[in-house]
Amino acid sequence: MRLLALGAAIAIAMAGFPLSGAAAAAAPTSGVCPTDPLAPARTPVVALDTRPGPGGLPAAYGGMQYRRSTGLGPKQIALTFDDGPDPEVTPRVLRVLERHCLKATFFMVGWYAKAHPDLVRAVAADGHVIGAHTWMHPDNIRRLTPAAGEAEIVEGFDGIREALDGAPPAEQAQLAPFFRFPGLNDSPALISWLAARDVAVVSADLGTDDWRGIGPGAIEWRTLRYVAHTGGGIMVMHDTKPATAEALSDLITELEARGYTFVQLVPAAGARDRAEAVPASLLHPVQPAARAVAASAGSFDAVDAWIRTSIRDVQDGARQLVADVRDWRK
Ligand SMILES: [Zn+2]
Repeated sequence: MRLLALGAAIAIAMAGFPLSGAAAAAAPTSGVCPTDPLAPARTPVVALDTRPGPGGLPAAYGGMQYRRSTGLGPKQIALTFDDGPDPEVTPRVLRVLERHCLKATFFMVGWYAKAHPDLVRAVAADGHVIGAHTWMHPDNIRRLTPAAGEAEIVEGFDGIREALDGAPPAEQAQLAPFFRFPGLNDSPALISWLAARDVAVVSADLGTDDWRGIGPGAIEWRTLRYVAHTGGGIMVMHDTKPATAEALSDLITELEARGYTFVQLVPAAGARDRAEAVPASLLHPVQPAARAVAASAGSFDAVDAWIRTSIRDVQDGARQLVADVRDWRK
């Protein structure tokens, strides 16, 4: 009997489930990925609570900025992709993830989601979780008025939710109460505003430098160096960069060879229902004000150019943030 219990404990540990943290939830895994001998057939999940944590810590995750634990175990990596969906790169990223039997979390720009609903649905249909990354990716949401900042967030969710309109319920449910600030430029006021709507802020533990315009080899080399420093964590990539899609498969294989495993960030049980039930929910109704702003957004090319400029500007700002974090860690 004792042996049996021990065997069960080992089986749970070997499945790679996070054993620490009450928020951690487990999905069953079985077998081995048919196309990736180093990977399990299913990605274990790590559930993020959207409610305040011990000591009143807000539901804000990612060691680059926040102290609250995600519950990821040692050498566990949660893949996240920002700024899409992108017609060229997102499908390539999806194919790589499928080949490695991996599930990830995508933080989408609402305007791109609305422009490419087929891609949003493809991401959801593949079992990836989707969070919002604003409507048009302002380079620094802190500089906007509170009302404009809130509208960016509302519309970001709306663009994704609209793209999923008419999709099967299981795909619609992939939209999570998760938000990532562009350039990780958060503000205490907006974190509180999101908390009141049961939405968690998801930052990162490490980057991959894929936004710096470097090639796939450099992305892989730098990421392996960063991950050796952090020991894993929430990793940021961009499904708008062709070099990211090119680097991804080799990077995954190399990380697995070094003993890292992958987990998927998902909302804790009940979190999505709570976020849907709050007044002015970001997940459920389309906000009339948001529709009005969205309608005035202009031609596709003009808005696309505006967002790309903003992303470039935010990345210039991010260089400083990354440098600050490195200084702070020394
Ligand atoms: Zn971004």
